[in-house]
Amino acid sequence: MAVIQFYNTLTREKDIFIPLREGAVGMYNCGPTVYNYAHIGNLRAYVFADILRKTLEYHRYKVTQIVNITDVGHLVSDEDEGEDKMEKGAAREGKTAQEIAEFYTKSFYEDLTKLNIQPATRYTKATEHIPEQIALIQKLEEKGFTYATSDGIYFDTEKFPDYGKLALLDIEGLRSGARVEENEEKRNPADFALWKFSKPGEKRQQEWPSPWGIGFPGWHIECSAMAMKYLGETFDIHTGGIDHIPVHHTNEIAQAECATGKKFVNYWMHSGFVNIEGGKMAKSAGNFVRMATLEEKGISPLAYRYWLLTAHYRKTINFTWETVEGAQTALTKLHEIFLNYGNKEGKPDEEYLAKFTSFLDDDLETAEAIASLWDLVKDERISPADKKATMLEYEKILGLGFGFSKEKLSSLGIKLEKTLGVGDVPEEIKKLLGERKKARQEKNWKRSDEIRNEIFGHGYSIKDEKDGEQIIISV
Ligand code: AMP
Ligand code: ZN
Repeated sequence: MAVIQFYNTLTREKDIFIPLREGAVGMYNCGPTVYNYAHIGNLRAYVFADILRKTLEYHRYKVTQIVNITDVGHLVSDEDEGEDKMEKGAAREGKTAQEIAEFYTKSFYEDLTKLNIQPATRYTKATEHIPEQIALIQKLEEKGFTYATSDGIYFDTEKFPDYGKLALLDIEGLRSGARVEENEEKRNPADFALWKFSKPGEKRQQEWPSPWGIGFPGWHIECSAMAMKYLGETFDIHTGGIDHIPVHHTNEIAQAECATGKKFVNYWMHSGFVNIEGGKMAKSAGNFVRMATLEEKGISPLAYRYWLLTAHYRKTINFTWETVEGAQTALTKLHEIFLNYGNKEGKPDEEYLAKFTSFLDDDLETAEAIASLWDLVKDERISPADKKATMLEYEKILGLGFGFSKEKLSSLGIKLEKTLGVGDVPEEIKKLLGERKKARQEKNWKRSDEIRNEIFGHGYSIKDEKDGEQIIISV
C-alpha cells in the first residue's frame, strides 16, 4: 500500500498515516454554526475534508465521516461569554432558533452539493445529542475535573497536565499574564464552560433540564460527545480551520482524554483561512462572500473549488475577483478540452497517475496535482482517449466535474462550447484547418493529428463531425 503522509498539528510534522483499524478510517470534521449562511471561507474547510476523504477512498480505505451541525451553544465570543449565536440569529430574523437552524442547515447542504462535495456518512446535530453531552459532563464530574460557578459547570484545566499540547499553549504564561477576567469565578483563565445555566428569570428558546440545572451545553462538549459516540473513544482524523487549534480543539482534547484516559485523536489536520482585503473573511466582520454571490457574478462553484485546489490547504489564501475569474476561465478550458477528446475508450496513463497520487499522498498537494493535469492535456505523446481516461481518474479526487453532462455543468455555471465559425478565427488557423481537412480526405490521420495539436497550441481545439466538418472551439 502507498505511503500516505499528513501534516499533523499535534506533532508539527508530516506523519505517515496508519489507521487504527486496517482498511478503515474514522474522521470527524468540525461543522458550521447554522445561524447564518456559510461564507466561502467556511466552505474551504469542507472542500479540504472532501479531498482528504476522496484521497483515502482512492486507496480503498472505508471512511466513516462525521460532520457536526452546531445548532446551540456557540457564543458570539467563541468563549463563554456573550450572546448565543443561534438566539441572536433568531432575534435578527424574527424566527425561532429551530427555524433558523433548519434554514441555514439546508443552505449549507446545498452549498456542499454545488461544490461537488460527497455527503458525509452522517451529519450530527448538537441539539439531538443533549443526553450524550450531559453523560460526558457527568463522567468528568465523577473524575473531579469540573467545578460549578453561578453561571455554569466549568472544566478545570489545571487538573489536566497535558492541557494546551495541541496548540503548544504557554499555560504558565497564560496564567501569570492573565487579562482581567470577565468571569471572576473561573479558577484559571483557560477554564471553559461545559454547561451554562439559563439566566434566572430568563426563558431561553433552547434549554434543557440537567443534573445541574436548566441550561444548555457549551460549544466544545458537543464535538467530543458526538465524535466519540460515532467513531469511538480514540479515532483517526479530526479536522477544522486553524482558528480551532487554541480553544475549540484544545478543549475537545481535554474533555475527551480526561473522561476516557485515552488518546482522543491520532491526526489533527487544519485548513488555512480565506482572507479578503488583507483580513480574515468572517461572518462577524460582515466582509463575507457567499456562494450565491459568486454565482451571481458568473463564477461556478466548481471554479471556486478549482481555485481552492490551486493552493495547498494549509496556506492562507487571499480572495480576489480577478483570481476566481481566472479559475473560471481555466476550468472552462479544461472542460472544453475534455469534451473535445471524444468518446473513444482509452486507458489511464500510468506515469501520470503515479505522479498524481504521489502528490496527494504527500499531505494533499492539490496545487501540484492541478499542474500535472495541465501537463497531461499538453502532452503530445498521449492519445486523446487515454488523456480522457486519465482525467477521469483525477476526477475521483479533485471533483471538478469531468464526465458531467453539459447540462449539469451549465447548471453549475460552466458554459461550454464557445463554438466558432471559420470566419471567426485568424488567417493562420484558417490555413491550418484547410490543410487538416485535406489530410483527412487523404486519410493521413497522422498529419491530421499533428495539425490538430498545432492548432491547439494556438488556443483552439477542434471537434470532428461525421460529415467531415471541423468545429472549432476557442480554448
Ligand atoms: P463556523 O461556522 O464559524 O463554526 O466555522 C466553520 C468552519 O469554517 C470552521 O472550521 C472554521 O475554522 C472555518 N473558517 C471560519 N472562517 C474561515 C475563513 N475566513 N477561511 C477559512 N476557514 C474559515
Ligand atoms: Zn468542533
